[in-house]
Amino acid sequence: MSTKNIELVAEPRAPHFVGDGFRVHNFIPSGFRLDMERMSPFIMLDYNSKFYFPPTDTPRGVGVHPHRGFETVTIAYKGKVAHHDSSGGGGVIQEGGVQWMTAASGVLHKEYHEEEFSKAGGDFQMVQLWVNLPAKDKMSQPKYQALSAKEINSYELPNNAGTVEVIAGAYKDTKGTANTFTPVHMMNARLNKGGTADFSFPENYNTCLLVIEGSVTVNETETVPTDHFVLFENEGEAFTVKASEDAVVLVLSGEPINEPIAAQGPFVMNTREELTQAINDFNMGKFGYLE
Ligand code: MN
Repeated sequence: MSTKNIELVAEPRAPHFVGDGFRVHNFIPSGFRLDMERMSPFIMLDYNSKFYFPPTDTPRGVGVHPHRGFETVTIAYKGKVAHHDSSGGGGVIQEGGVQWMTAASGVLHKEYHEEEFSKAGGDFQMVQLWVNLPAKDKMSQPKYQALSAKEINSYELPNNAGTVEVIAGAYKDTKGTANTFTPVHMMNARLNKGGTADFSFPENYNTCLLVIEGSVTVNETETVPTDHFVLFENEGEAFTVKASEDAVVLVLSGEPINEPIAAQGPFVMNTREELTQAINDFNMGKFGYLE
């Protein structure tokens, strides 16, 4: 197996607010060559690096908005996110939990800091990722997969190096519980200082990582600090991540969906016509109703 080398290390760009509750650094697709085609099936990655929100009686967040044509994956590292949608569904993503929402043919939803968290205030840290759907599944039925921390399978690394929590796909013999439409590996490596995890993914899969906590050394050569993002080359399969201090690293690898992408705001389709259709359907209330 040959080594998969780093293509680029991206530092966090200046943050911006999504609504008033999500202070995010965008990594995909707004720059660094991390465009949707290059990163497919990962077409958007917003990272709310650890940020303190003071107490408030009015939960901060983002109001009612639609999605069509892809999946949103929200990973809560610190704080809690509440969500409600036009089908009457809703819930709270707790710390260590993941919500995998298949928007597919369309949902209207809103995302807010959970009420008790808002009242108490505190550190908030999360990732929201959009995973594209292939054309044949873009108009399928919307659904949710809610994974609490204890529903996420964990692989114990040797030598007390730490654990790898598998959200989707697999790490060695440990499989993630989230179902995906195309092959996707998604995992959090929680490494103890000095601990190493080795990873291997097919050469053609688009592979990247985000350092959530601590700092790591990749392939024993490149030191990557907190809140930095690494894109790997599409050559070679294997790489290592060693924790310079206690670290949490989000690792993503997915088979690219080689189809045309037509994207506008919350809609990601294959053609301009489908985008126009999505906008018309939204304006005509076909995504349902949510206060
Ligand atoms: Mn949303």
